[in-house]
Amino acid sequence: MRERIEIFEGDITKQQVDAIVNAANTSLLGGGGVDGAIHRAAGPELLEETRKIGGCPTGEARVSKGYRLPAKWVIHTVGPVWAGGNRNEDQLLASCYRNSLKAGTELGAKTIAFPSISTGAYGFPLERATEIALRETKNFLEADKSLEKVIFVCFGQKVFNTYKEVAKRIFG
Ligand code: ADP
Repeated sequence: MRERIEIFEGDITKQQVDAIVNAANTSLLGGGGVDGAIHRAAGPELLEETRKIGGCPTGEARVSKGYRLPAKWVIHTVGPVWAGGNRNEDQLLASCYRNSLKAGTELGAKTIAFPSISTGAYGFPLERATEIALRETKNFLEADKSLEKVIFVCFGQKVFNTYKEVAKRIFG
């Protein structure tokens, strides 16, 4: 199972995978951070499609095409804004990973790349978010046989090092 998870430092918009996950906001109309980078790389057709979808509640996921991205699909999920930890943030973040993985398998994706959801502008503590990301993915992959690879695309050394450390703890 560990061999189906990859931790990689880089830019998610460049990933040659079936689907990339976007850390979107509830409007699905684009924004800063990874969301802005994905919209810029995909081109304006992406916004046309996400406008029609009409939004997404926190913790859920919606699917669009990838347009000019190397990835065929974009799975848009909305992470929780960190508010101290007592507003269901952990459960909502876990739902983002579960619902995104489920959406990917429903599309028939074999390879999915994730950014570190909620840990940028939304302020979720990085190590805590990484534990949730890796545990939910591990649990999902243990029950699923169709996904071949889940790639965590870490933007910068700090995120990369955190994923490596937490993975060591979880997988040994
Ligand atoms: P959120 O609003 O969910 O916190 P952000 O986009 O602000 O989303 O940050 C989420 C994570 O995405 C951060 O770790 C940020 O460094 C990272 N990120 C930003 N641009 C990219 C990119 N092009 N590829 C992968 N990760 C990115």
